[in-house]
Amino acid sequence: MQIVTTINEVRTIVSEWKKQNLTVGFVPTMGYLHEGHQSLIAKSVSQNDKTVVSIFVNPMQFSPNEDLESYPRDLEKDAILCEKTGADLIFHPQPEEMYSNNFCSFVDMNGLTNNLCGKSRPIHFRGVCTVVSKLFNIVKPDKAYFGEKDAQQLAVIKQMVNDLNIDIKIIGCPIVREADGLAKSSRNTYLSDKERQAALILSKSLKYGKTLIENGERNSQKIIDKITEIINTEPLAVIDYVSVVDSLTMENVKTIEKDVLVAIAVKIGKTRLIDNFSYSV
Ligand code: AMP
Repeated sequence: MQIVTTINEVRTIVSEWKKQNLTVGFVPTMGYLHEGHQSLIAKSVSQNDKTVVSIFVNPMQFSPNEDLESYPRDLEKDAILCEKTGADLIFHPQPEEMYSNNFCSFVDMNGLTNNLCGKSRPIHFRGVCTVVSKLFNIVKPDKAYFGEKDAQQLAVIKQMVNDLNIDIKIIGCPIVREADGLAKSSRNTYLSDKERQAALILSKSLKYGKTLIENGERNSQKIIDKITEIINTEPLAVIDYVSVVDSLTMENVKTIEKDVLVAIAVKIGKTRLIDNFSYSV
C-alpha cells in the first residue's frame, strides 16, 4: 500500500491501473478510521481490483464555530487499518494541495440540503459536494462508497452524480455500531465516560421509534414526540433535530406512506452526534 500527498501522484498511479484495465473503488474519509470506515473499505476491496482511501479533514465543510482544529487525526493508525483491510493507496493531501489561494469554484445544491444537517450546518454540504467532486476528478474511480450513518450526505452525493453526469456508481453501506448500539463515529472520541453512557440515548430512542413504525404507527409527529421524550430523559442531551423525512427528497413527511428516513442530531455536552434508520413501506 502506498501513501501519497499530491494530486499528481494519485493521477499517475491510477492511470497505470487503468492502462491495465483494473477497476478502482474509492472511499473518501476524514480519517481517524474505525470499523465503520473499515466496512466501506472492505466492500470496495471485495468489488474492485484496486481501492483508494482519501484521508482529508476538509476545512470547507466546517463552519468557524465547529471542530476543524480539534478533529482527531492519526495517520499512522489509519494506515495500519487501511493496509490490513486491503486498500492499495491512501491519498492524504494538505489543504493547500486541494485549495489554491485563488480557489473560487463551488458545487452547491438546493432542496436536498435545506433540511436536517443542512439546516443546522448551512455551509456544510457545499463543502462536501465541492471536495467530493474534486476527489472524484482526481481519483476517477468506477465506484465510490459512503456510509448510511450520514444518510443525508449519501442522498446528496447520489443526487450530485446524477445531476452532473458523473460516471461513478455510488454504493451505500450500513451503519456499523458499537456492541451497545452507539453508531461508530470519529467524534465519539470527544466523549467523557459519562457522556459516552449518555450518548446511548440516540440509538435507544431510535430503536423505540422503529418499533412504533413497525407496529403500524404512520403519524410522523407521534413518532417524533416519542423519540423526543426519550432523548429528553437524558440530562446531558440537547436535541438539534428529530425528523421523519422522505428518503429521496429529505423533506418532512406528515404521514408515512413512502420510504422514510428517521434522523436525529443530538448534542451530548459539546459533541454533536447523528444517527438514523430507514423504513421501507
Ligand atoms: P467521515 O470520516 O466521518 O467523513 O466518514 C467517511 C465515510 O465513512 C462516510 O461515508 C461515512 O458515512 C462513513 N461512516 C462513518 N461512520 C460510519 C459508521 N458508523 N458506519 C458506516 N459508515 C460510516
